[in-house]
Amino acid sequence: MADTDGIDVLVHEVGPRDGLQATQVLMPTDAKLEWITALRDSGLQKIQVGSFVPPKLLPQMADSADVTKSAKELGGFKVSVLVPNLKGAELALAAGADELNFVMSASEEHNLKNVRKTHEQSIEDFTRIIELKRSNDDFRDVTISGGLSTCFGCTIAGPIAEEIVFELTRAYVEAGADRIGIADTVGYGNPVQVKRIFSEVLDIADGINVGAHFHDTRGLGLANAFAAFEVGVRELDGCLGGLGGCPYAPGATGNVVTEDLVFMLESMGLQTGINLDRLMEARAVMEKHLGGEPTHGAYAKAGAPKGFPSAGLAA
Ligand SMILES: [Zn+2]
Repeated sequence: MADTDGIDVLVHEVGPRDGLQATQVLMPTDAKLEWITALRDSGLQKIQVGSFVPPKLLPQMADSADVTKSAKELGGFKVSVLVPNLKGAELALAAGADELNFVMSASEEHNLKNVRKTHEQSIEDFTRIIELKRSNDDFRDVTISGGLSTCFGCTIAGPIAEEIVFELTRAYVEAGADRIGIADTVGYGNPVQVKRIFSEVLDIADGINVGAHFHDTRGLGLANAFAAFEVGVRELDGCLGGLGGCPYAPGATGNVVTEDLVFMLESMGLQTGINLDRLMEARAVMEKHLGGEPTHGAYAKAGAPKGFPSAGLAA
């Protein structure tokens, strides 16, 4: 298992899941594993490797069980996956995932469209997943994360009442969540809103780990990540090369760019455990398999400032 001692901020790479599912590329399993290996070698300690959704809906994720098993064999990092329901959780646990990120939309309209469930039904499903975990000692160390997408706005419902986000966070905590994940799925959030929402969510979570997931759709990804850090969030999601564009905004940038996020944190003197040179090598491995899919990122274009120390792991 990854050693998170000495880390100030845990960067959670979600490229092989959130990034790939937004592309048309069907990356072969071997290529995914080559990429995931390079990500691990850069020092990343948690990588989201797939999504246990029906293969018909997301053919890019059809090999998630195989990728999860092989990622576990690679070792050296926490293997995180996304699960939309109990069925997905059963498959993910059987494959040996270390962290299950259950997903529910704060927007009930979006949740009905995405997983065909009301909030109440999704929370019932989540409760069953917690029961499943607790029923088997083999799953004792698995993290079950209650994820909330569209917390800062929704392409279907528009603005989302903050009280809904807080209510659903409370429901997750009461159900026994090990972690809470709050996401700005479509890049609607701003730093002031981020500070307000995360301050309250951290209060409700009361010591349970809270992760933040931002998209850079309108250029505020890094500002939002910093705002979340400032109010106490210590786990931030990113996608190598900023993969994960929005299907409703063709050509728009995707998730917060991991390289830029790591550069920001390390340049502020925070330890991420990640070596930026090796992260750039992982980016090259990813690009080799992306079939010309556009990638983003300022650090990749400009490189390190003169005198900037190579961060993280020793070479
Ligand atoms: Zn996302």
